[in-house]
Amino acid sequence: MQVSFLKDLVTMRTPTSEFSFLCYLQDRDRLIDFINHKTMFPSRMEFHDYLEWAAARFSDQVEYGSEVVAVTPVESGGTIDLLDVVVRQGDGTLVTRRTRNLVLAAGLEPVLPDGLVSDDRVWHSEELLGRLPRGCATRTGSWCVGAGQSAAEVTEHLHGAYPGAEVCAVFGKYGYTPADDSSFANRIFDPVAVDHFYTAPDEVKSRLRAYHATTNYSVVDLDLIDELYRRHYQEKVQGKERLRILTPHGSPTSSATTTACASPWSPAHRRAHRAGDRRHRLRDRLPPRRPAHPARRGRPALRTPPRRRRAPGPRLPDRHLPGDALRHLRPGRQRAHPRH
Ligand SMILES: Cc1cc2nc3c(=O)[nH]c(=O)nc-3n(C[C@H](O)[C@H](O)[C@H](O)COP(=O)(O)OP(=O)(O)OC[C@H]3O[C@@H](n4cnc5c(N)ncnc54)[C@H](O)[C@@H]3O)c2cc1C
Repeated sequence: MQVSFLKDLVTMRTPTSEFSFLCYLQDRDRLIDFINHKTMFPSRMEFHDYLEWAAARFSDQVEYGSEVVAVTPVESGGTIDLLDVVVRQGDGTLVTRRTRNLVLAAGLEPVLPDGLVSDDRVWHSEELLGRLPRGCATRTGSWCVGAGQSAAEVTEHLHGAYPGAEVCAVFGKYGYTPADDSSFANRIFDPVAVDHFYTAPDEVKSRLRAYHATTNYSVVDLDLIDELYRRHYQEKVQGKERLRILTPHGSPTSSATTTACASPWSPAHRRAHRAGDRRHRLRDRLPPRRPAHPARRGRPALRTPPRRRRAPGPRLPDRHLPGDALRHLRPGRQRAHPRH
């Protein structure tokens, strides 16, 4: 997680609450193990489990799998004191709930970079785990467009989960930008900063956004950048590059900040792949290689070591998978090895 466990659901407001991450650890009998871990950053899988643990205490008050489709005012004597909230339940039934108070917290919509259209082989990273093939795609590849934390995590996940796949990270600059999580800069996330920002003039808001963009926007944790570079370099040493970073050879061309994944794992490609049809390999659709250096023109091509099929990596126990992955990658099928 890119946030301290102390910024859980409650601690900053009510440190003694029974819904804190520490109470969760105590309940799961892992408090001492976590302390020995000496980290402020739980894994996404563990934080997911914490949120489910907290949510379970309210299961009788929350209706999941339903969509609010309309909100209408209830007028009485010329005033509006109540609202009717129309809800479409999971089975399609419409029900109306009358309320005095309504909180709107609908979240954000995923956005693809300009020019990309979602289809069965191109999707936004929020759909990643549901869209990945369940079988072991050892000879196919994928492109991951974007240079933010999600893109870097997706690139690392694909590279680790599919030991035979070529994974291309595509973005419009020369390298991932490190996230600034230094102590002073982190004050932009303090509760009081919300009030400062809210009441600031537009010009100050713009300046604050620009100053502190690298705390969160299109940036990547430094340890993840280091890990990707380590893998990339190691493969160069071994002469079998399959983690490829496609950056501009001229000036940066893309302003994409969202993460899109393009994969050749369409049903047709999977069939072709199983049939050993090399024409469907992603490598055939990569940009042409750079022309040979003038000094080498007319001379035989440099020999690169033949690609060898690698044995699949060690199987990992389920506790290494993020919570969502457990739903999609069932035991006995493809295993994932994400960084967290
Ligand atoms: C890949 C990824 C990684 C992230 N990692 C981190 C991290 O490490 N640290 C961090 O601090 N933040 C992280 N974030 C950001 C964080 O997840 C969001 O800031 C946070 O979830 C926003 O919370 P929210 O409640 O506003 O919206 P959401 O979490 O999006 O919740 C909105 C909910 O409303 C529901 N909804 C919308 N419309 C309706 C409707 N009409 N009827 C019923 N329900 C509706 C949606 O289905 C959704 O469940 C990450 C985000 C992503 C995508």
